[in-house]
Amino acid sequence: MLVFRQLFDQQSSTYTYLLGDSESHEAILIDPVFEQARRDKALIAELGLTLLATLDTHVHADHVTGAALLRKSLGSKIAVGQASGATGAHINLKHGDRVTFGCRYVEARATPGHTSGCMTYVLDNEKMAFTGDTLLIRGCGRTDFQQGSAHNMYQSVHTQIFTLPDECLLYPAHDYQGRMVTSVGEEERLNPRLGGALSESDFTGHMSNLNLPHPKQIDIAVPANMKCGASDEAHPITEPDWAPVVLTFAGIWELQPDWLEDHVDQVQVLDVRESEEFEGPLGHIENAILVPLGELTKRLEELGKARPIVAVCRAGGRSAHATVVLQKAGFDKVANLAGGMLRWRAEGHAVEGGAD
Ligand code: FE
Repeated sequence: MLVFRQLFDQQSSTYTYLLGDSESHEAILIDPVFEQARRDKALIAELGLTLLATLDTHVHADHVTGAALLRKSLGSKIAVGQASGATGAHINLKHGDRVTFGCRYVEARATPGHTSGCMTYVLDNEKMAFTGDTLLIRGCGRTDFQQGSAHNMYQSVHTQIFTLPDECLLYPAHDYQGRMVTSVGEEERLNPRLGGALSESDFTGHMSNLNLPHPKQIDIAVPANMKCGASDEAHPITEPDWAPVVLTFAGIWELQPDWLEDHVDQVQVLDVRESEEFEGPLGHIENAILVPLGELTKRLEELGKARPIVAVCRAGGRSAHATVVLQKAGFDKVANLAGGMLRWRAEGHAVEGGAD
C-alpha cells in the first residue's frame, strides 16, 4: 500500500510530500523545508519509515530545502534535477530517471520553465504527479528569474503534464489560498493561464506582464539551495542538550522512562494528575511535585526555571498539555514522560506509594 502525506509550511506556503511503501517501509520526501526537518523526521519515525531520499522539484527561491539537514540526521540521499546545476546531490536526475522506494517509484520528467532545472515527479501508476512550481492549482510558477522561460513552461505543461491521464491528481509545491490538490483534466480545462483554448502566445503575453515583486528569501534561499541546503546561510537548528528529548509529530517534546529513571535527581518531576490519583494505586515518582493540570497556570511560581521539568500524568496526555503550558510561560527545558505512569509502572520503574 502507498503511504502518502501532504505537509505544509506556513512561512513559505510550501507543500512537502511523503511517499512510502507500507511493505518495505521505504520512503521518499519531495520538497522538504529546512525549518520543518524536525516535523518531517518525527512523522517518518512515527510511521516506521526509512527515508531513502529527498527529492527537490527545483532550486527554490522562497525557502531553503531540508535535504542536507535530513541527510545529516537520517542518512537520506539527495536528489535534484541535473539541469538545476545544484552541487552536493547524490542523485542528479535526468528526464526519465526513476527513484524507487520499496516496490514503488516516481519518474522524473524535465519540466523547465519556472527554472531551467525543474522536475515533475510522476508516480508509477500515473495517479499522482508532483509538479513543483511548474503547474500550480489554477496557476503556474513565475518565469521571470532563475533562467525562467514562458515558452519552456508552456511546452513543459502541455507535453509533460497535460499528457497524463485526466484523473491524475496534481500536487504543487505551493498554494497561497489553502487549495491542496487538483487534477490534469481540471487544469487542462480551467487553468486561467495554460488551460482551455489559451495558446502559447496568450501565455507568454500574460507572463511578461505580471510585474511581480522580488521574492523576499531569494538572496538566502537560492545560494543555499544551489548546495542542496548545505549552507552557512541556513542557520543550524539547535537541538535541546539537557536530555535525549525527541519532538513528536504532535509537537510535544518527549522523554523516555529509562532516561528519567537514571536522571530523576537532576530534574523536577511535575505530576499533573489529581491528588486522589497521585495517592492512588499507580503511585507516583519519588519527589514528584503535584500540581493538577487545572491549577498549573496559577501555581507556576512553585516551579524553578533552572532545572528541567519532566511532566507526568496517568497515560501522558494531560502532561503533554502541561508541557505546552509551561513552554508558553517561558520554561524552556520541558519534556513529557512518554506513556505516563502506566508505562512507567509497566516497565518496572521505581514508584512511591501505589498498589502492587
Ligand atoms: Fe519556485
